[in-house]
Amino acid sequence: MTPMDAATILDRFRRAGGLLEGHFRLTSGLHSSGYLQCALVLQHPREAEACGGALAERVRHLGAEVVLSPALGGIVIGQEVGRALGIRAIFAERQDGRLMLRRGFALEPGETVLVVEDVVTTGGSTRETIDVARARGAVVVSAAAIIDRSGGRQPLDVPFHSLAEVSLPTYEPESCPLCLAGQPVVKPGSRT
Ligand SMILES: [Zn+2]
Repeated sequence: MTPMDAATILDRFRRAGGLLEGHFRLTSGLHSSGYLQCALVLQHPREAEACGGALAERVRHLGAEVVLSPALGGIVIGQEVGRALGIRAIFAERQDGRLMLRRGFALEPGETVLVVEDVVTTGGSTRETIDVARARGAVVVSAAAIIDRSGGRQPLDVPFHSLAEVSLPTYEPESCPLCLAGQPVVKPGSRT
């Protein structure tokens, strides 16, 4: 596979409608100049496979034995990275607010783990996933995500790999510079 650079990845996102640029009202009520939705890219198996393959190439040298992803966002890309590396891919999910392994998924003490997510913003769910692996005695060798939205601020204590960095600032509606500039605000996905 030809190496995929950040511009190629972002083009794929734009084509699939997974990266919109403009002036948006997010579900949180905040305004933003962009909207990112990895699921819109990953719904296409070929896109998911390409992203998983590209991510796998970044981390293959680490020799991880298993991929661990947080549900739901990490499951599809985790599966694709696992496929490309030829290793198994499992996921952690929330029960009573805590991320944990269920369904009989297991990690052995000393097993080397690669944590895979679709997008890392604050790094919170990545850290939680790392903790799930460490609680079983496994060794987390790296974390990886398709998109890094953290602005380089994710406080992880393992090496972090991503395919592209995206910076999408959010604003309170009252102080949104795009509103001040008179640009109409739209809900992501609407065509108005
Ligand atoms: Zn605005």
